[in-house]
Amino acid sequence: MASGNSGCGRDPVPEPSTSSISSMLRRRPAFLDDSDDDDDDGPVVGRDLYTEEVIMMWNLTKIMKNLSTNEQCVAFAEENGLVHSQKECSIHRKPMKIAKSTNKSFGSWCCTKGNCRAKTKVPRNKGTFFENIKIDLVQVFYLLYAYSHKWSYETVIHEDPYKESRQQCISRPTISDWYSYCRETIVIYQMDRNQVEGKIGGPGKVVQIDVSKFGKRKFNRGHHIEGHWVIGMTEGKDLRLEVSLDNIESAEVLVPLIQKHVEVGTTIHTNFWKVYDCLSQHGYIHKKVIESDPDNPFVADDGSYFYEYLWRRYNVKHRKDPFMELIKVIKYAYK
Ligand SMILES: [Zn+2]
Repeated sequence: MASGNSGCGRDPVPEPSTSSISSMLRRRPAFLDDSDDDDDDGPVVGRDLYTEEVIMMWNLTKIMKNLSTNEQCVAFAEENGLVHSQKECSIHRKPMKIAKSTNKSFGSWCCTKGNCRAKTKVPRNKGTFFENIKIDLVQVFYLLYAYSHKWSYETVIHEDPYKESRQQCISRPTISDWYSYCRETIVIYQMDRNQVEGKIGGPGKVVQIDVSKFGKRKFNRGHHIEGHWVIGMTEGKDLRLEVSLDNIESAEVLVPLIQKHVEVGTTIHTNFWKVYDCLSQHGYIHKKVIESDPDNPFVADDGSYFYEYLWRRYNVKHRKDPFMELIKVIKYAYK
């Protein structure tokens, strides 16, 4: 229910076997050394993770140990580049101090020179992922963890480690909001790293085409993506997507985007939208289908789930720690 893209084809992750313990004692394979490079997708990890790798990953116990006080969360946010830890006064060119009193979570930047104080005071979380947060920072990080592991709303409420001390449960609208914020940052991240790898389809092959439109985002900053059309082209688990500012309901806009990714001679499945009628004039075999493939993440909801699907699939394939990947995404989207 939370993410609406169940059955999205995640590969099962084998449990680390006992043989991994002996593997731990050996040196890590050299090819893993560059797998954390931001620009490099890294190799697919076709083996069980070593014990040391599993231990490094975040779980709920680790969240409770390392991110259960405001101070811990602020330090973590600084270490991971989610908020700045230094800032100069634009007037005096001197490092500013952090005044704790005015902003509950992060404090505010403040110049100590003369009467500059009032003029330059600015909340430290302004322009960051944490701007205007209405819940405690510890809850935010708990929700980030939950989202990264694709927890249902029920699980989030049930596992919430803070509910006893607060005598209160996290509300569904709060979970929904923060899941949306996470999804938005993933859209920004995935849109920028979406790379074309040749065409899909070909004679005798079927490609499903779906189109959706981004509505207005909850967060009105960072990259602007509202009002964009997104077209998804799927062949089995191979996915291509294009984003267009122009109205995709016109054949002049739509057809070149399809031609860029789909081989001539492909059988294309679409819904009953009129614009697709022209496809048969461009060398495609066009079939209108009533029932879309329920496993296709693109048709499950708006296009943002499609990006979420790609992101989760990448993390599974490359055995990334979903929590740290999400932190990386947030850093990227709000840089
Ligand atoms: Zn100053």
